[in-house]
Amino acid sequence: MTTTLAEMRDGLHVSVSQIKCYLRCPRQYQYRYVLGAEPEFIPANLVLGSAVHEGLAAYYRSVMTTSESPEFAVCMAAFHATLVGFRKGKLPINDGDKIEAQGEALLKVFYETVYQDPPNVVGVEVPFTFELPDPTTGEILEEALVGALDLVVREEEKHVVEEHKTAAKKWSKDQIKNDGQLSAYKLVARKLGLGEVGLRLQVLTKTKKPKMIVENTDRTERDEQDFLATVVGVLRAVDAGVFYPVRTSMCGGCAFQRRCSST
Ligand code: SF4
Repeated sequence: MTTTLAEMRDGLHVSVSQIKCYLRCPRQYQYRYVLGAEPEFIPANLVLGSAVHEGLAAYYRSVMTTSESPEFAVCMAAFHATLVGFRKGKLPINDGDKIEAQGEALLKVFYETVYQDPPNVVGVEVPFTFELPDPTTGEILEEALVGALDLVVREEEKHVVEEHKTAAKKWSKDQIKNDGQLSAYKLVARKLGLGEVGLRLQVLTKTKKPKMIVENTDRTERDEQDFLATVVGVLRAVDAGVFYPVRTSMCGGCAFQRRCSST
């Protein structure tokens, strides 16, 4: 029987999103993951990103089954179902008026780019749990890295693992080169028996004229060690109770800003 992502999250675990949250602002990490504080709202970017992600996943799942592109309506149905789920929740969505129009525009750009030549899909949202070795001592940490590979495709002789993002603008070369999610994918793919995979980033930009940007990239052994060292460093800091605020322009969109400014 296949273990689901929810079952994998039963044990002590950490995700790449959690690590990224700590690196952006340790205090936000504390509110979200240590204290379990209720956010004041759900950021529209999060809702849009999640709903578009589901639209893409629905497309690729259909291609995996039929080897053909489904109708665009398949993407939009998954997008709307996710959006409705958020809207039924008790938390308000911050600045959520344009989500439908933005989501449809982004998914349209995606669909028009891929529908004539769908990829050879091997897996969609492939769940993983990965034992984390301390890169210095080799000791296995208590926490496992848990997550899901957005997409695995087969191209000629090898597998390619893709990460899907929505973003305000095109990612910089440094962002692509250093993104921790893709370093994690490389480590995890090897453990899943996919061998030395190619890595790809697909970004849908929320620019006036939305674009789909696809970048192939790779990770060296040093990148993988750096990623593990970052995870270990963050987990040690969390264990030691290091939760300082990082006040930047991101504070305006932080779902804990009222609580944070009153402490
Ligand atoms: S308001 Fe700023 S400093 Fe405070 S938790 Fe949020 S991001 Fe961190």
